[in-house]
Amino acid sequence: MVINFAAGPAKLPEEVLKEVQANLLNCNGSGISVMEMSHRSSNYGKIQEAAIADLRELLNVPQNYKILLMQGGGTGQFAASALNLIGSTGTADYVITGSWSAKAAKEAAQYGKVNAVLPKLESYTTVPRQSTWKLDPNASYVYYCDNETVEGVEFDFVPEVKVPLVCDMSSNFLSRPIDVSKFGMIYAGAQKNIGPAGVTVIIVREDLIGKHLKVTPSILNFELMDKNSSLLNTPPTFGIYVMGLVFKWIKANGGIAGMSERAKAKSQLIYNIIDKSNGFYYCPVQTQVRSRMNVPFRIGSSAGNEQLEKEFLAKAEAEGMIQLKGHRSVGGIRASLYNAITLDETQKLAKLMLAFYENNK
Ligand code: PMP
Repeated sequence: MVINFAAGPAKLPEEVLKEVQANLLNCNGSGISVMEMSHRSSNYGKIQEAAIADLRELLNVPQNYKILLMQGGGTGQFAASALNLIGSTGTADYVITGSWSAKAAKEAAQYGKVNAVLPKLESYTTVPRQSTWKLDPNASYVYYCDNETVEGVEFDFVPEVKVPLVCDMSSNFLSRPIDVSKFGMIYAGAQKNIGPAGVTVIIVREDLIGKHLKVTPSILNFELMDKNSSLLNTPPTFGIYVMGLVFKWIKANGGIAGMSERAKAKSQLIYNIIDKSNGFYYCPVQTQVRSRMNVPFRIGSSAGNEQLEKEFLAKAEAEGMIQLKGHRSVGGIRASLYNAITLDETQKLAKLMLAFYENNK
């Protein structure tokens, strides 16, 4: 048996994959696969509408927020968020706490003035408290990334700001309760917690729609997407179908509260081993903002002993635990514990870590 600890594309719930398999040749009694259905057919329409309705229910999305399904992934939204929202004042605040928010800020700078609210951090291992931020009162929005997937840094608070809050939740979406009304826009690429790559969820407050820059490509234009019920062009129908099944799976497994409890239990298990290893395992992230989704660590020392790390990865693979290698920009190990990873699977990783510690300390 293989346990997939990938950072994304990542593990999907086995129950969902089995349902996809069972329905593959004959989707909902249509006699054809969902991949072969017209996106304008009523059969497909029901699938997309149900996915959006289930998401609205799961997150308690207020009626004055639109849910859009788009393509282009998180990177598409680095551009789309700026193209659609920066126009009101021409400037926006970016809270750069890791690789992904840095990339988003760089992209946005093509379309307006970007103000970095923090001095450049020496390392992405912390979230400076909001009292230290230098916010621009003229900003159209404040942007941040709730969970930095590469560095394993997750916000432990929702910023309180006077302008719309824009948040990249790609790697912790639907893993803890959120109050949507605190945000102007939330987006998430599907391929970590909610489905296959190819579909991106956008939740945006109605009054922010329609302020896009003139150069905004139609495919990234919130107003056009909204007017066309996310069917401006052919959507990633298969991805939306699978994502809809994941939403049903979350509903059947305790909802967001259930996902949140699991996430806490799983990540605590691994962080406890790291913290009790006398420095053999080392996680550079400040305790308060350690990610429940992506647990990065080094082995042997804070800089990492590459030989030991290689051995650990080989041992893990031999036991069926795969895709544990850290992001190429930071090295080391990264265990991603998204919603679909079970406590039982996490315990197998914990067991390996304890045994490896005993043999190599
Ligand atoms: N934001 C975050 C937090 C991510 O983890 C990623 C991808 N790993 C992205 C954005 C970029 O997403 P994509 O590859 O879908 O463009």
